[in-house]
Amino acid sequence: MRIVLLGPPAAGKGTQARRLAARFGVPHLSTGEMLRVAASSGSPTGLRIKALIDAGNLVPDADVLAMVAERINEHDASGGYVLDGFPRTVGQSEALDLLLAAGDHALDAVVELRVDVESLLGRVSVRAAAAMAAGEDVRADDNPESLRQRIETYLAKTKPVSDHYRRAGRLLQVDGMLEPDGVEHAIAIALGQVASMVG
Ligand code: AMP
Repeated sequence: MRIVLLGPPAAGKGTQARRLAARFGVPHLSTGEMLRVAASSGSPTGLRIKALIDAGNLVPDADVLAMVAERINEHDASGGYVLDGFPRTVGQSEALDLLLAAGDHALDAVVELRVDVESLLGRVSVRAAAAMAAGEDVRADDNPESLRQRIETYLAKTKPVSDHYRRAGRLLQVDGMLEPDGVEHAIAIALGQVASMVG
């Protein structure tokens, strides 16, 4: 099962991607997580990536594509994966199409979580408070200023990715404003419709 999860920052993609990955027994591939690891290395590339992430800007396509191309070719991803946070630009989605075609694969589904932009600040505050309560580090980009930039970036660069998949007849839209269990259920229904169309 090869699934892409789309949606604005703090829409709940990470939570749903983890649940989907567990359900289908495939790895959860979060480019945000991969980039945060790269950013923490302290190398010149890491520092460049960290500055972009912290300000709420995108890391250049070339860096992200190299990382994803390598990761999806690893053994544990041979049966599929859930991509969370990728593709984030139309260029990335076109490159993913080529990567998949080269491996004679196709995406099974693209799921977009639809969330009111006005609710995102509240969601980020909840996430930051939960991380703090759990004794975890609060993400450096989970603050109002970076979030504003992340939303702007999302609207300008990532929203058009949904249109790319809509045109390809692959886009499933799900109400991301429900509680996590409700969103999970809605995704399962949407995926079930795809399975019954295919099967
Ligand atoms: P996320 O954890 O998905 O919210 O991503 C956190 C940050 O990592 C984003 O705001 C970007 O700075 C960077 N990032 C994650 N995925 C990508 C991507 N596919 N392309 C470019 N930058 C990305």
